[in-house]
Amino acid sequence: MKNFIPEDGTLLPLMEEFYTIQGEGFNTGKAAYFIRLGGCDVGCHWCDVKESWDADLHPLTPSDEIVKNATQYPGKAVVITGGEPLLYNLDYLTNKLKENNILTFIETSGAYPLSGSWDWICLSPKKFKAPNPSIAQFANELKIIVFNKSDFAWAEEHALLVGPNCKLYLQPEWSKANEMLPLIIDYVKNNPKWEISLQTHKYLNIP
Ligand code: SF4
Repeated sequence: MKNFIPEDGTLLPLMEEFYTIQGEGFNTGKAAYFIRLGGCDVGCHWCDVKESWDADLHPLTPSDEIVKNATQYPGKAVVITGGEPLLYNLDYLTNKLKENNILTFIETSGAYPLSGSWDWICLSPKKFKAPNPSIAQFANELKIIVFNKSDFAWAEEHALLVGPNCKLYLQPEWSKANEMLPLIIDYVKNNPKWEISLQTHKYLNIP
């Protein structure tokens, strides 16, 4: 049976939540509480959280409960990820987190319009479902997952859409890292507006 998810964002399909270290992008190395919401229709064939795709498999959880859990830890930042978290209205959740002095970071493919109140927006567009054009201007960070050589040109197309202060990252797709990293290193040396992002949590063996 399909879950009825209210549009006011007071209930969200929660796949998992855990306190860890942000492993990738600008906030690498910072302690953060991860909130992974279920549901994604982007369909990346290399996705490493395919179990997130079906929102109905994940329990509808009161946003107030998620906020209460997030406040239990010394690190006062959350990363809201998925799945694709912008399938849902995140205004309620993020406003409550901010009322509790917690910084709000999001990881999104940008496939849906932006909701929520954010301290850091990581836009990681995917070829499989075009990002909503309204999001790029708000991105603090553009993170392109490099799976093959053609992804460099695709990265440049998206870099034209973000604001001048947006950080630009190239990150090898995990299963192709050995093959793509030498290309990424050369690319960044020749195009230093880009930086390298690595999935350091996988090297550290933490979630
Ligand atoms: S957007 Fe993220 S969660 Fe969705 S299929 Fe792609 S990698 Fe997986």
